[in-house]
Amino acid sequence: MQVIRDEDVTLDALRGKTVGVIGYGNQGRAQALNLRDSGIDVIVGSIRDAGAELAEKEGFRVCPIAEACEAADALALLIPDEVQREVYQSTIASRLRPGQVLDFAHGYNIHFGRIRPPETVDVILVAPRMLGVKLRRSFEKSSGVPAYVAVAQDASGKAREIALAWAKGIGATRAGAIETTFAQETEIDLFAEQGVWPIILRDLLLSYEVLVEAGFPPEMAALELYGSGETAEIFLQMARLGLVRQMRLHSQTSQYGTLSRAERMLPEDARDRLRAALEEIRSGRFAEEWSEEQESGYARFEALRRQAEAHEINRAEVLGREMFERSGVLGEAP
Ligand code: NDP
Repeated sequence: MQVIRDEDVTLDALRGKTVGVIGYGNQGRAQALNLRDSGIDVIVGSIRDAGAELAEKEGFRVCPIAEACEAADALALLIPDEVQREVYQSTIASRLRPGQVLDFAHGYNIHFGRIRPPETVDVILVAPRMLGVKLRRSFEKSSGVPAYVAVAQDASGKAREIALAWAKGIGATRAGAIETTFAQETEIDLFAEQGVWPIILRDLLLSYEVLVEAGFPPEMAALELYGSGETAEIFLQMARLGLVRQMRLHSQTSQYGTLSRAERMLPEDARDRLRAALEEIRSGRFAEEWSEEQESGYARFEALRRQAEAHEINRAEVLGREMFERSGVLGEAP
């Protein structure tokens, strides 16, 4: 797979252009600051809220979203995916000019056809594989986080160049950018959320319940399973050393226990469930379900969240959290 590095690209395609960052939240703040520090002219388009105040305090010209559309050559829609369509339809669509660039940090709304920009604009994706706060922090340390880059519409003939310049401007090419498509970025992102995390979440909850049922103190169960930060450290070492190679950091007893039980704990039919999860995403069925959920006022989502927050593990983990905070082993919270 080809990785695009800092030395492979220039900022030229963005120079002389005004970038309008819409939304000053996780990604908006990080991308606006990084682009400005890279010498790009950035304005912030915002509804008037705490984010707008912060952007002003941090030296940006902040204006209503409609005004940002008019003033900017390239617009980054860095507001929550759930509100993008409404904001696009009510404020952006009628103001788009031929030759403008529409940038996203996640392909969802374009890929699933929830936003359909006119053919006269470039539509690009620069999707950092990291939380906004870390995107900013690593940039400040002269480093960067990886990003996916894609082009959905190339009206100007320069969309790819602009997307790569954007990736450089936010510092992503310092780590490396990977060219992909809106479809792949969206599907793989949703698959990680729906194929991997549900299994981990359920496994931690069930493991907690089994330990407590067997007489282990709840606080100790939560501490052991994830509360001490050791689990997070293992994930970090997976990224650093490799999924399997990081196991060498653990005792041989631990390695044998993990390797010899891996198949038994997640039997072969899990593969079919993962395939089905991917198919649900690719067919658009998940997107339809999520749209219906949003339109009906998030009733099921709220109920699921309430149920998860009522689980006793939320109380049992308090002690571990205090101990973890005192330990300082994993650095600051995001
Ligand atoms: P946030 O939830 O942090 O966005 C919050 C900002 O969106 C607010 O500060 C506000 O901006 C604006 N906003 C919220 N509601 C509205 C509304 N109804 N109308 C107008 N503006 C509104 O978003 P994220 O940064 O988490 O996500 C932005 C995009 O980045 C998404 O596409 C997401 O998938 C993608 N992404 C996010 C990552 C992350 O780090 N969280 C990682 C990679 C991609 P203001 O303050 O200016 O008013």
